Amino acid sequence: MDKKISVSQIKEAAREAYEMFKTNTDGKNADYIPYLANIDKNLFGISICLMDGTLIQLGDSEYRFGIESVSKVHTAILALRQYGAEKLLQMIGADATGLPFNSIMAILLEKDHPSTPLVNAGAITADSMVQPIGDSAKKWDAIVANITDLCGSAPQLIDELYKSESATNFNNRSIAWLLKNYNRIYDDPDMSLDLYTRQCSLGITATQLSVCGATIANDGLNPVSKKQIFDGSLSPKITSLIATVGFYEHTGDWLYTSGIPAKTGVGGGVMGVMPGLFGISAFAPPIDSAGNSVKAQLAIKYIMNKLGLSIFNGDRVTITE
Ligand code: GLU
Repeated sequence: MDKKISVSQIKEAAREAYEMFKTNTDGKNADYIPYLANIDKNLFGISICLMDGTLIQLGDSEYRFGIESVSKVHTAILALRQYGAEKLLQMIGADATGLPFNSIMAILLEKDHPSTPLVNAGAITADSMVQPIGDSAKKWDAIVANITDLCGSAPQLIDELYKSESATNFNNRSIAWLLKNYNRIYDDPDMSLDLYTRQCSLGITATQLSVCGATIANDGLNPVSKKQIFDGSLSPKITSLIATVGFYEHTGDWLYTSGIPAKTGVGGGVMGVMPGLFGISAFAPPIDSAGNSVKAQLAIKYIMNKLGLSIFNGDRVTITE
C-alpha cells in the first residue's frame, strides 16, 4: 500500500511519546559498571533523523552518555568496510544467539564462530579484525574515525567510564581468551578486549545515534554530512544483523511489538533503523533485566505504532512536508 506521513505527524508522535513516558520510573541503572550506576536516572532524550537531514529532537537529546553496546554496530560496519560482507560471515557469523549479551555458553555452543558481531564475543572479534593488525593506536584511530563518519560528528571518550569498566570486565576477559582458544581472535586478545572496552566507553548523544541510524537507513550516505560512508550494498547486511540480535534474548519480542530493527546499550541508548525513512534514537538510563532501556523502548515503540510503521508491512511510505 502507498502511504504518506508528514513531518509534523512524526514530530507530534515523538512529542506524545516524550510527554507520556518522561515520568516513568521502571527499570534501574546498570549497576555492574560503577560509573553507569551513578548517572542521573531521570535523563530522557529522543532524536529522529530523516533522509534529508531534518532532525526532530526532544529532551536530553544532546546529553553525552556511554554508547556501550550500540558501538557493536559501528565496529561491525568497520569490519564490513574493511573485509566485505562474505568475509564477515566467515570470520564472525550473523546468527542470533538467543542468549544474554555476555554469554560464555553461546561461545561454547557455537565454537566454530562467535555467532554475530552484535554480542560481546563477536564485537571483541570484530575489534581484533580492525586494520592495521598489531597496531593498537592506529586501530583505535580507525574505530573513532568510523564512528565520526557514521554519526557526522566525533564521539568523546568518557575516561571515568573506561576506567570503571576496565577494572570490572572480568567476564569479557574470559570471553577474549576463550575466543583465542577457538582461533577466533585475529589479533592480540588483550588488545582486542581493551579496544572493545574503550569503544563502549565513548560518550555519544541520541542526536548522533539518530544520524548514524539514518546513515544505515540511507544506503550509507550520511544525510547530515552528505558523505557516502560505506557501500550501499552493505546496508541490508547491517540492518539484518541489528534485526536478528539488537535486543539480545528479547529481540523477537522487540521486533514483534515495534516493527523496527534497533540496537541497545546498557548505557541506556537505543538506535533504530527504518530503511529509506529515518534513523531514530532514544536514551534513558534505567534498563530492564536484559540490559535494555525501559523508556527508550516505550518511546520508540509508541512512535512506530502511532505512525503505523513496520519493516514488515510492505507499505511504500513517503514522508511529506
Ligand atoms: N561494555 C558492556 C559490556 O561489555 C556493554 C554491554 C551492553 O551494552 O550490552 O559488558
